[in-house]
Amino acid sequence: VKAADHLNRLSAQLGRLPGVGRRTAERMAFRIARDPEGLLADLTEALRNVAEQVRCCSRCGSITTVREDPCPVCADARRDGSVLCVVEDASDILAIEASGGYAGRYHALLGKLSPGGNSGPADIRLEELIRRVDAESVSEVVLALNTDVESEATCGYIRERLKEHAVRVSRLAAGLPAGSGIMYTDSVTLARAMRGRQAM
Ligand SMILES: [Zn+2]
Repeated sequence: VKAADHLNRLSAQLGRLPGVGRRTAERMAFRIARDPEGLLADLTEALRNVAEQVRCCSRCGSITTVREDPCPVCADARRDGSVLCVVEDASDILAIEASGGYAGRYHALLGKLSPGGNSGPADIRLEELIRRVDAESVSEVVLALNTDVESEATCGYIRERLKEHAVRVSRLAAGLPAGSGIMYTDSVTLARAMRGRQAM
């Protein structure tokens, strides 16, 4: 196997990361390969550490440790279990927690629907959501998805799917910057959007 093949394999993996295009992935691979004692060793250790210690919470999909599953938010009896905030990614949960404006629990879809093709309902944690709504006697589902076209489609689909379930569905108040993500929205705006959530 040639050196170039090893590098291609590495850059193919790096290119799967969000925001990393092919050229950037190639540059990253070269940078890693020329520093085996430094960057490569440090990356290897950090990756192994995450692989051994970090998991998605089996209930809400948030990031947690192998020792804390369900995660601290799911396990916290003081949280209001009747309200479930649905987000796309675990990073959105951190942003909403940081805003301090929410005391319920969470459900991360870990993706969104892509009407164009490559992500359907079975590719996101949608059945898990519906099971939780029934099993945990949830009375309100708050959709806190992003504002792009795919997120809108996902909101609409979830609304339809929950119609036969005895649960109110609301969404964050308008005012989130169009096209931007939950995790890039400042705490004050997020808290206000949560307080002003509207029935859907
Ligand atoms: Zn959890």
